[in-house]
Amino acid sequence: MRTPVPDYLEQVLTECHGDEGGERADYIPELAQAPLDRLAVALCTPDGTLYSAGDADVEFTIQSASKPFVYALALEERGWKDVYSHVGTEPSGEAFNEISLEPESGRPRNPMINIGAITTHSLVGSPELDADERFEHVRAGLSAFAGRELAVDEAVFASEMETADRNRSLAYMVRTTGALIGDPLDQVEGYTRQCSIAVTTADLAMMGATLANAGVNPISGKRVVSPLVVRQVLSVMTTCGMYDAAGDWISAVGIPAKSGVSGCILGVLPGQVGIGTFSPALDSVGNSVRGVQICQRLSDDMGLHLMGAVPSGQHTVRDIGPLTLDGREATRVQLQGVVRFSEAERVMRALTELPEGPDPVVLDLSRVAQVDQVGRRMLLEGVRRLHLDGHDIAIVDPEDALPDPDEGYRPTRLSLGEL
Ligand code: GLN
Repeated sequence: MRTPVPDYLEQVLTECHGDEGGERADYIPELAQAPLDRLAVALCTPDGTLYSAGDADVEFTIQSASKPFVYALALEERGWKDVYSHVGTEPSGEAFNEISLEPESGRPRNPMINIGAITTHSLVGSPELDADERFEHVRAGLSAFAGRELAVDEAVFASEMETADRNRSLAYMVRTTGALIGDPLDQVEGYTRQCSIAVTTADLAMMGATLANAGVNPISGKRVVSPLVVRQVLSVMTTCGMYDAAGDWISAVGIPAKSGVSGCILGVLPGQVGIGTFSPALDSVGNSVRGVQICQRLSDDMGLHLMGAVPSGQHTVRDIGPLTLDGREATRVQLQGVVRFSEAERVMRALTELPEGPDPVVLDLSRVAQVDQVGRRMLLEGVRRLHLDGHDIAIVDPEDALPDPDEGYRPTRLSLGEL
C-alpha cells in the first residue's frame, strides 16, 4: 500500500493554486524576481518522516522564518532571563519593520519583528565574536535544526544589503536603549546573512519537526535546544509569528507559525508535525497568500488546531475488576493511553472508590503508552495513599512507564504472565 498523505498534499496544492493575488516583496530587489508560480508544501513528523508536494526541493531564502531559530539559540546559550532583559514577548500590533520598542525598558517588543530579531542576532555567541564568527555560529545552529549544512544565497544577501537602510536605522535606534549588543552595522550584516540562508520547503518542515520533537532533530538524533526553550519559542511564534495577522491566524489556523518575506511559512504543532509552505506572493501584512490558504486547509482537514484538543481522561481507566493473586482476592485497575494531569485525575477519582482494607490492588499499566512527569507524581502518590489505607500494591508495567519513587513505599512489580 502507498500512504495517502502525499496524494492528499498534491490535492491541497491543486486546490490552492488559483490566482488569489498578492505581491512579491520588492523592497529586496532580488526577491521581486522570484517566479510567482512556485508552490510547495511539506510535512515532517517528529520521527523524521517527510511528505511533500510541489516545488518542495527548490531553494529560497529563509528570511524571517529564521527568527524563531535564532531566538532559540540565544535562549539556549544565555537563558530566558538574560534574553528577556534585551527582547520582550509582547505582540507589537505594528508592521514587521517598525520601531517597536517598549517605552519603559527600551526593549524591542518581541523577537519576531526586525528590531527584535536584529537584537536577538546580537545575543548569539560570545560578545567577543566578530560579525563573521557570530554569523557562522548562527548558520551552524540553523543547520543543526535542519540536519544538513545550510549556506547563504549571496545574490539575495547583496541585494538586501543595498536596501537595508531601514534595518540599519532600527539597529542604531535599539543600541541607544542598550538592548542591542555590539556594532549596529555588524549586527545588521549578520542578521541579513541570517535571513539570506537558503532552505527548501522540505528543510523548513524538518526544522519545524525539530521544534515539534522538543528540540531534537529527528534524523540526526542531536539535541539542538532544550524542551523549555522550545516551549518559549513556540509561545512567541503563537502570539507574534504572523505579525499583525497573529490573532486571525491563531484563531483560524491554530498552529504556531512564522512567515518570511520570501513567501515561506514555518508551522509547528508540538509533538505532532513540522510544516513548511512556499509561495512568493504576499498579502498586505507580509504573509504568503497561498501559504496561509494551505495552512488553513491542513488545519481544517487534519484537525491540527492547537485549541481543538479533545478530552481523553474518560477512557484512561479501562477496567476495574476482581482478580485472584496468590490465592488472595485482589482488585485490578487497568489503565490505558497517555497519562498526564487530566487523565491521572480520573485515575485518582477511581482509586478513591476502592474499599479500604487489606485486599491487594494491582495497577495494570500494560496498555499505557506514556506517563508524563505530573502523571507519574500523581500515580505514585495514589499508590502511596492506597498503601496507607492498608492495601498492598502490585504494578504491572512492562514498558517501564512508571518508574519507582526515589524514596518511600515501593510497590511489588509483576509481569503480565504472573496475573
Ligand atoms: N530580511 C527581511 C527584512 O529584514 C526579513 C523580513 C521578513 O521576512 N518579514 O526586512
